Amino acid sequence: MTADSRPLFAKVALLGVGLIGSSLAHAMRRAGLAAHIAGYARRRETLEKARALGFADTLHDTPGPAVKEADLVVLATPVGTFGELAKEMAPSLKPGSILSDVGSVKMAVIRDVGPHVPEGVHFIPAHPIAGTEQSGPEAGFAELFDGRWCILTPLPGTDAKAVADLKSFWQRCGSQVETMDARHHDLVLAITSHVPHLIAYNIVGTAADLETVTQGEVIKYSAGGFRDFTRIAASDPVMWRDVFLNNRDAVLETLGRFAEDLSALQRAIRWGDGDMLFNLFTRTRAIRRSIIDAGQDIGEPNFGRPRKR
Ligand code: NAP
Repeated sequence: MTADSRPLFAKVALLGVGLIGSSLAHAMRRAGLAAHIAGYARRRETLEKARALGFADTLHDTPGPAVKEADLVVLATPVGTFGELAKEMAPSLKPGSILSDVGSVKMAVIRDVGPHVPEGVHFIPAHPIAGTEQSGPEAGFAELFDGRWCILTPLPGTDAKAVADLKSFWQRCGSQVETMDARHHDLVLAITSHVPHLIAYNIVGTAADLETVTQGEVIKYSAGGFRDFTRIAASDPVMWRDVFLNNRDAVLETLGRFAEDLSALQRAIRWGDGDMLFNLFTRTRAIRRSIIDAGQDIGEPNFGRPRKR
């Protein structure tokens, strides 16, 4: 057994076994990262699905028994639930263990979870920048994190070995790892993820409410661009409600800039300023190219959809 194939942790507890929690379990299994994977979810239906899929060694409907003796605990439920879960499981956390999460916002997680972390437990917030629009235990797969970034936002003074262990954990799950200040994380994610989701939710909502174009026409002609927004707008409503409620300041700041730039585009169209439109569209096309060159998407036309169905 080489150093890189040894389990990093004897027991890992995943609180939440939806898309992200179950993908983590599959990725851990693939890399042999944990001798025991424990899962927690509220509903019997979720636990039964997880049991049938077999990615966890034990499953629990309360967090305490799931985290008992765990060396790494990962919160993978909607962000708005983290504070209560942390409070409930705090007495069962093992001294010396790492408490982390996968939440899409970081300042609010530090605010809500931080006060419940017992002395001797290493709290290291994290966020894998990987996902799909699907949810639930059956949506997970081992390759979700391959080549994607995972951002760690440790607080100043956090134990360096614990941070190194968590970094190694994510790398062995397939990710590239970056460390960042939590406030900066929230600003970066507001522009790269949160506001794009809000725009998608908004445009799909606007189309649904239009009176002059029928719903049937919106669906029939969706390949004109609309359908690519609908993929994002199909993302989990609970998760995304919690993201916007918990990254309010960064989202509002970014939306302010977005609204100004949108007004400038509106004016360019009104006044027939083709140069302005052309220059912007040329710059944005180059950004798409950079994303493909950085390995964060495929370069196939139409996102690699089959040419003929
Ligand atoms: P998901 O597929 O909907 O799974 C959520 C899990 O949490 C399920 O096991 C669910 O089971 C449990 N849960 C839901 N409500 C709960 C509550 N009130 N109390 C306790 N448990 C609850 O969600 P996900 O996409 O994996 O997202 C999980 C976390 O990952 C979120 O914090 C999200 O911000 C973060 N994240 C998501 C993505 C993405 O693209 N989806 C990407 C990066 C990070 P029960 O309903 O049975 O409890």
